[in-house]
Amino acid sequence: MEDFEKIWEKIKYKLQMTLEEDVFNETFAAITNVFKVVNNYVYLIAPNSFVKGKIDAFYLNRLNAMLNEYLDVKHMFKIISKEQAAEELSKASYAINVPEQGLENKYKTGLNNLYTFDNFVVGASNRLAYTSATKVADQPGVFANPLYIFGEVGLGKTHLMQCVGNYILENDVNMKVLYLKTDQFIEDYGRASAKKTFDDFAKKYENVDILLADDIQFLAGKTQSQLEFFKIFERLKDNNKQIVITSDRPASELYDIMSRLTSRFEWGLSVDINRPSLDHRILILKKKLQAETSDPELIPHEVLEYIASIFDNNVRELEGALKRVLFYCTAFDYKFTIANAEEALKNLINSKNISNKAINNGNFNTVLDIVSSYYHITTTDLLSNKRTKQFVFPRQVTMYILKELYDLTYKKIGQIFNNKDHSTVIYSIEQISNDLQSDKTKKEDIDKLLIKCGKKA
Ligand code: ADP
Ligand code: MG
Repeated sequence: MEDFEKIWEKIKYKLQMTLEEDVFNETFAAITNVFKVVNNYVYLIAPNSFVKGKIDAFYLNRLNAMLNEYLDVKHMFKIISKEQAAEELSKASYAINVPEQGLENKYKTGLNNLYTFDNFVVGASNRLAYTSATKVADQPGVFANPLYIFGEVGLGKTHLMQCVGNYILENDVNMKVLYLKTDQFIEDYGRASAKKTFDDFAKKYENVDILLADDIQFLAGKTQSQLEFFKIFERLKDNNKQIVITSDRPASELYDIMSRLTSRFEWGLSVDINRPSLDHRILILKKKLQAETSDPELIPHEVLEYIASIFDNNVRELEGALKRVLFYCTAFDYKFTIANAEEALKNLINSKNISNKAINNGNFNTVLDIVSSYYHITTTDLLSNKRTKQFVFPRQVTMYILKELYDLTYKKIGQIFNNKDHSTVIYSIEQISNDLQSDKTKKEDIDKLLIKCGKKA
């Protein structure tokens, strides 16, 4: 907190130097310290609501600009009235919303304040989920209740859910937000039932304004916890308290969870998050890079593209790969090149592809033969630069198969095809990956080819 106090003193001094004396005395003189700093908001207490209104209307932008001159991570001022501050202090015995220690990220809300809408990168795969989450955050309990977000692991469900909590808290410090991992809930229930402290248990959950229940699939098979969760759900829903739920699958496919619960999950709005496209993944990397370094241009686009092309099904892994490349090149003072990135990621790539490792490593010429005869073209045309569709598609398929079966580097694949650029290879493989998802016939063809070329069925 100390730093922010000092910053506020400096800003105040600047204000004093630049504003008319009367104006300064009326508006800012009485604001002596920083009330608290939460979720990148710096709270100041205005002496009365008139002053609060005046600052909000006329000075806030300027104050924020001054504030951020002193900081690397963007912060904003929030002006609250004395009454609001007093009310909050009187509630401080309530566990929620009170920082555990200083400027730590973790609050008893369970939220991580790094998960914000600002740093969630939106694309086709998550747009609906994102838009729904913002609407829920804007109008808790009104727009859709519950909001049910589902998708595979590592695609941003927890991140998005926490954005809702953080956003709501930013707008109203008095909201009682609780982020709840479902497995913790089950443990907590176990403890309560051992100690027979059900009242405390129920109170903790039923008193919240916003309940964020993460990974609800863990309730499977836990009948007692399901019953407890059902009661809490009913209570909150009846009182128009917002509930957000995440899961690894649609509510209708939840396994071993009582149907009166799963059917309620469908009362509100269900949205899914899918795997991001290559371009989307590159944007995510750029955003993560921005957060990691002061120089967002540090890693060239083509290297980011390379990383994004490999880690295509899990944003957490994608992020991990970026950090690894950053660390590797920084630690050894290497340039950020594709070759160095490939070296840094060698182990990750190997373990990732272990299941489709080459069967008879190196003998990929048969692939060229098999694919060209399948599409009734010559191997020479397959390897040529001819741009007609008749050749381009089989060429892309071949590149895809070489990657799948032999895990050749993009560079190496490019060399086989008349020294094509690695980015052409990446693009080609991505095209086929997309086709596989959207076109059944093509998928059947390519699956057949993969097996012909040696993939174990
Ligand atoms: P899930 O809960 O679906 O398993 P998480 O929310 O934990 O996934 O996300 C895994 C990591 O990926 C987190 O670090 C998160 O910030 C990041 N992430 C996922 N999707 C995005 C996105 N669209 N924009 C930015 N970061 C993302
Ligand atoms: Mg999660």
